[in-house]
Amino acid sequence: MMSPASPVHTVCPHCKRPVAVQPEQQHAHCPEHGQIVPMRSAVANPPLQPMLKPLALGA
Ligand SMILES: [Zn+2]
Repeated sequence: MMSPASPVHTVCPHCKRPVAVQPEQQHAHCPEHGQIVPMRSAVANPPLQPMLKPLALGA
């Protein structure tokens, strides 16, 4: 059985979340860490989901 190669993404070096980076830029923006120097690695965490709220607590 063949195992698929680990996908490599451009990620934030701090949280290993995928970030979008322009090919001509050396920096990317992480929603959590701000401007970062991205690294090529496997994704360790799912992207942050902005506007995601926990279910209403005791509302
Ligand atoms: Zn980050």
